[in-house]
Amino acid sequence: MAQYPDWLWYDGKFVETQSATTSVLTHSLHYGVAPFEGIRAYRTGSGKTAIFRLDAHLRRFFASANAYRMQIPFTLEALRAAHVQLMRKIQLEEAYLRPLGFFGSERLGLSPKGLSVHVAVAAWSWGAYLGDSAAIDGIRVRTSSYVRPVANPGLTRAKVSGNYANSMLAKLEATNDGYDEALLLDSHGFVAEGSGENVFIVKHGTLVEPEPSAALLGITRESVIELAQGLGLNVESRRVTRDDVYGADEAFFTGTAAEIVPIVELDRRTIGTGKRGEVTARLQLAFSDAIRGNDAKHADWLTYV
Ligand code: PMP
Repeated sequence: MAQYPDWLWYDGKFVETQSATTSVLTHSLHYGVAPFEGIRAYRTGSGKTAIFRLDAHLRRFFASANAYRMQIPFTLEALRAAHVQLMRKIQLEEAYLRPLGFFGSERLGLSPKGLSVHVAVAAWSWGAYLGDSAAIDGIRVRTSSYVRPVANPGLTRAKVSGNYANSMLAKLEATNDGYDEALLLDSHGFVAEGSGENVFIVKHGTLVEPEPSAALLGITRESVIELAQGLGLNVESRRVTRDDVYGADEAFFTGTAAEIVPIVELDRRTIGTGKRGEVTARLQLAFSDAIRGNDAKHADWLTYV
């Protein structure tokens, strides 16, 4: 457990990480229904640590649970306090936080009716998800052979563990083939998102996001759109094809783990100049100001620890 702090929050209490276990008969382990979030806390310019967009993540956590008929036995306020207190307890200046809800082990069988619901929150140090140089040098991406289903088949709006089986396959396929990340198309063939990121392209100075009908409604994505509008950029949401990405001036991924990462190559086609684009760099700077507490307009995005 060396890479994890000694403590996590589990059903309302701090528990030693190595003792925070569950039964192999846990319902969610068998059927893949465990809503979760990925959240980051950053050291701000003032030296204090702040959790970025905690309430937005918690609202999505409750929405994911609700979509799968799971009643979280804590209020949003209680979970907000749990995240803040955990950060104080483990004393990390920066961390990735992972709340996870799951059905208990009283009984197997598909119906979760009557089962207990548990919530754990863990946090640990996690550097740049796509590599230290990714934010500047960009990454190489391949179109996945796996498809991001449109919303209905699996309620793919919800961030629940089972939806990530597909993402895991896409990520493995891409990295086994020597790429950094996968780009998934939706079941109609339009660009959806990365295995754990939303995607944007820039064309003639306009920031374009693929209409997010088959993508997670990313919170970094939402923040980037708001920051782009604040910079006076034109933002459009429309259907995007694979060759729109090949022909884009710039492309980048957004996500809590990945942050903002330029895509410099898709399927061995160079995008734009093959280097981080100007709009991408401006948005990275604006995002960095927001997470570090240097953007007074978005001070309400931060929950100080
Ligand atoms: N799409 C998927 C499939 C993801 O797992 C994530 C990461 N949560 C994102 C997009 C980006 O979402 P966010 O910016 O809220 O982290």
